[in-house]
Amino acid sequence: MFLFKKANALHLYIRQLHQQHFPVAFIPTMGALHAGHLALIQLAAKDGYHTVCSIFVNPTQFNDPRDLEKYPRTPEKDIELLVSVGCTVLFLPTVAEVYPSDLEQPTFEFDYLEKILEGAFRPGHFRGVAQVVSRLLDLVQPDALYMGQKDYQQVAIIQSMLQQLHSTVKLVMAPTLREADGLAMSSRNVRLTPDFRRIAPVIFQTLVHAKQQFQQGYAPAEIQQYALQKLITAGLKPEYFELVDGKTLLPIERFNDSKSVVACTAAWAGEVRLIDNLLLKS
Ligand code: AMP
Repeated sequence: MFLFKKANALHLYIRQLHQQHFPVAFIPTMGALHAGHLALIQLAAKDGYHTVCSIFVNPTQFNDPRDLEKYPRTPEKDIELLVSVGCTVLFLPTVAEVYPSDLEQPTFEFDYLEKILEGAFRPGHFRGVAQVVSRLLDLVQPDALYMGQKDYQQVAIIQSMLQQLHSTVKLVMAPTLREADGLAMSSRNVRLTPDFRRIAPVIFQTLVHAKQQFQQGYAPAEIQQYALQKLITAGLKPEYFELVDGKTLLPIERFNDSKSVVACTAAWAGEVRLIDNLLLKS
C-alpha cells in the first residue's frame, strides 16, 4: 500500500493509475477503522477498482467541539488493517492540506435534506460533510465513491452534491456491517461503557421490530411511538425514530405513498451518540 500525506504526491500517483486506465474507487473515512470500513474497500476491490482510502477527521463536520476532541484516533492500527485488505492507497492529509487558505469552495443547496433527521440535531454537519467530500473528490479524482448505508442521509446528501457538481462519479452504497448482536459497527462504539455496550443492540432490535410491525400493517405513527418507548425503556435516550421515504427522506404518513421506506434513528447510549437505520421496504 502507498501512503500519501501530501495532495501533490497523491495527485501524481492517481494520474499514473488513470494513464494506465485503472479504475479508481474512493472510500473516505475518519479512521478508527473497523470491519464496516474494510468491507467498503473489499467491495470496491471486488468490483474491480484500485482503492484509495482517506483518513481525515474533518473538523468542519463536527458541530460539537467535544465530539471532535473525543473522536477515536488509531492511525497505526488503521494502516495495518488497510494493508491486510489490500488497499491500494491511503491518503492521510493534515487539515492545512485539505483546507489551504486560498481554497475556493463550491456552494451547495440541500434545502430540507440537510435540516431533517441528523441535520435537525447536528446543524451544519452536512455542509461540512459535503465540503470535505467535494474537496477530497477534487484531489482523488475517482471513478467511483463507496459509502455505507449506516449513514443513509449522508449518502443522500452526497448524491445531491454529485448532481449539483454534474459529476460522473458513480456512488455505491454498501450495506451496514453489524456486530454479532446486531449493533451497527461504528468508530464510536469503543467509547461505550460496558453497561451501554450491553444495551446498545436494542437499537437494531427496535429497527427489526419496526420492520415486523410494518409487515403486519401497523400505521407509521404507531410504529414510531412503540420504537421510541422501547429505546427509552432500555435506558437509551432517542433523539428521533422516523419512518421516511427511502428516496426523498421525507416522513411518511401512509406507507402506500412510498416505493421504499427506511426507518432511521439516533439515540444516546450514555455519552455516545449512535445512529442506525433499516430498510422496511425497498
Ligand atoms: P466514518 O469513518 O464514520 O466517517 O465512515 C466512513 C465510511 O464508512 C462512511 O461511508 C460510512 O457510512 C461507512 N461505514 C461506517 N460504519 C459502517 C458500517 N458499520 N457498515 C458499513 N459502512 C460503514
